[in-house]
Amino acid sequence: MTTTFDSPITVDRPDLFIAGEWVAPAGGATVDVIEAATETVLGTAASASSTDVDAAVAAARRALPGWRGRSAVDRAVALDRFASELRARAKTTAVLASRENGMPISLSIGANGYAPSMMVSYYAQLLRENAADDIRPSALGERTVVRHEPVGVVAAITPWNYPQSLAAMKIAPALAAGCTVVLKPSPETALDAYVFADAAVAAGLPAGVLNVLPGGRETGAYLVEHPGVDKVAFTGSTPAGRAIGEVCGRLLRPVTLELGGKSASIVTDDADLSLFAAGLAGVSLVNNGQTCHACTRILAPRSRYADVVEAVTDTVAALTIGDPLDKATQLGPLVTQAQRSRVLDYIDVGRAAGHRLTTGGAVPHGIDTGWYVAPTVFADVDNSARLAQEEVFGPVLTITPYTDDAEAIAIANDSPYGLGGTVWTSDEARGLAIADRIHTGTVGVNHYGLDLAAPFGGVKASGLGRELGPEGMAPYLQTKSIYF
Ligand code: NAD
Repeated sequence: MTTTFDSPITVDRPDLFIAGEWVAPAGGATVDVIEAATETVLGTAASASSTDVDAAVAAARRALPGWRGRSAVDRAVALDRFASELRARAKTTAVLASRENGMPISLSIGANGYAPSMMVSYYAQLLRENAADDIRPSALGERTVVRHEPVGVVAAITPWNYPQSLAAMKIAPALAAGCTVVLKPSPETALDAYVFADAAVAAGLPAGVLNVLPGGRETGAYLVEHPGVDKVAFTGSTPAGRAIGEVCGRLLRPVTLELGGKSASIVTDDADLSLFAAGLAGVSLVNNGQTCHACTRILAPRSRYADVVEAVTDTVAALTIGDPLDKATQLGPLVTQAQRSRVLDYIDVGRAAGHRLTTGGAVPHGIDTGWYVAPTVFADVDNSARLAQEEVFGPVLTITPYTDDAEAIAIANDSPYGLGGTVWTSDEARGLAIADRIHTGTVGVNHYGLDLAAPFGGVKASGLGRELGPEGMAPYLQTKSIYF
């Protein structure tokens, strides 16, 4: 086994990051972060209580006038420094996050390592490009100036699966917009979140502009309701998103919700199956299947059904399972024991429903440490089955036959979710025509990969609002029209 980068054995972070200071949690609570591949304690982080949330929100409010009052260019310069400090930490951050959640290092180096600094740089640049006032000829009078003002204090709540990217998708546009942020990361990946605090200190971001408070769901719920918060940005499960959306609705508090998914890959009858097979791991099993936009439903034309089942089965069975820190690993362990139990329970559901298991279906043979599940494929799954309707969040794929494009699109859309999707075809125009009719926030043709410059998000139970691109900054701004 070749380990990619050196990293410390344990990482203890006993304090919270509030108002630019390292502060012991008021209740003295801590959380152990368990390494997914070894099942041992990787480190201990502070865990915030409501008292700490009060202090962090107050710090963010105090910092707001100074930060929003800076010129766009000043803020962009500060963000460039922040990006460069994040970039300097990219390799160790990637290793740390992989150890926390089991993400293969080949993915983590981008998703946890370099993506955050790229996002901060992207929004700093956007800020420079959009610094000028928007002056419009008025329909009635002389002119109207449309100003974009920061919404204020942002509560950013993130899950464990892409802890760095998902935090940066909120922190970067929020800070660029002139907002201040309280970040509450997931307890499972509390340790890597401190990298944002380290980088903020090193970059000289003003105290209180960014506060980092690991904590559990109660801490998150308290933060969402806090009277000092102006906007909530949440990524996580659909049930938690609904609960947060209800609270924000009652409070009339702006909220963006990036939630679960159950996306479909439509393999058309003219698809290049070798291209599809080559993309399968990255599109359908990325991050061990713990990816909101993973295309875990494979829709195969009846005319080529056996070929697709064979291609999926052979590709999945050949994936390299192993240590997430090994560059050759394609599938690492799941994040926690509870997550593995959930996925194994779903595999039992598939068996009990009589779906045809073509590979996997258990803990991989010979691996007795780490929360691994062998990548699993069920064929002949009707789209109404639980396994096709519910988000498993693990390496479990279903294959469903269809007759023509219209039926494939209908099956793809027959889901409570609407986040991603892919079309595999040799005919780009056909791919685009199918993509147009898929009711999701994003679709890939012969590929799926997020683009920093394009909006990402879902419809239906996959959420509200968009992140990334200029659209990802809009939720952190409110407009004010000044009529002359
Ligand atoms: P989760 O909803 O359990 O937790 C996410 C975060 O929210 C954690 O920090 C948690 O402590 C906090 N939280 C939970 N309940 C809360 C509440 N009521 N109020 C405030 N905070 C609360 O999700 P998870 O298990 O950590 O993550 C997996 C889920 O995230 C999957 O459903 C996945 O699809 C989804 N996800 C979505 C996207 C997207 O962009 N659409 C991206 C990644 C993950």
